[in-house]
Amino acid sequence: CGIIGHVGTDDALETLLTGLENLEYRGYDSAGVAVQNGSGIAVEKRSGEVSELKSSIDGSLEGSVGIGHTRWSTHGPPTDENAHPHTDETADVAVVHNGIIENYAELREWLKANGCEFTSDTDTEVIPHLIQYFLDEGLDGEAAFRKAIENLEGSYAVTAMISDEHVLYAARKGSPLVVGFEDEAFFLASDVPAFLEYTDDVVFLEDGDVVIVDDDGVEFTDLDGNPVSRERKTVDWDP
Ligand code: GLU
Repeated sequence: CGIIGHVGTDDALETLLTGLENLEYRGYDSAGVAVQNGSGIAVEKRSGEVSELKSSIDGSLEGSVGIGHTRWSTHGPPTDENAHPHTDETADVAVVHNGIIENYAELREWLKANGCEFTSDTDTEVIPHLIQYFLDEGLDGEAAFRKAIENLEGSYAVTAMISDEHVLYAARKGSPLVVGFEDEAFFLASDVPAFLEYTDDVVFLEDGDVVIVDDDGVEFTDLDGNPVSRERKTVDWDP
């Protein structure tokens, strides 16, 4: 339902929680965040409101790259396990997703046959396992992300991170996603209000876009990796 991502020099957590609060108007049943904390990816997620998520957060979520999500359940009830972000078994990869993966059942069977263990009922959980599967095959982060996205049918706005990379990967098809530019930070969100108090300098992604966000900037490409140019706009909305 709602996505927020942050890459920058400051701690991500406050931006992520503010973003989730700003997205509350969309309605949701669960919320969660994941942050790279220097020794891997730390995740905190639960059913209920962002305020409840906030009160269960401890000190392990310090780091400047992170993702957050408010969930509107389509596959699996609103439980703590089904809340996003979702990860692979070792939490090397974390993913938030809006939309519906139509072919998740066959992907799940295929991943299970290849040794993956699932902890949720969601369609989303196939995505981190797919990325990890392709990383294990020797692909780098970007190639593994692209290959995972290529395998998805349905609608999605996806944002992913990999534990040892100061990078966010994102893709969209049929579900909105927007990039925000600040002096020393970049944002990804399902909707501008998520980060509007930080910046009004944005690029709206189009279907089929894959973006790579790191400390140096944002790369806009199509699914095959060809560069695409997307217009930067200043939105004149009130925060
Ligand atoms: N289909 C996913 C789920 O049920 C994502 C739902 C959403 O867009 O929040 O977890």
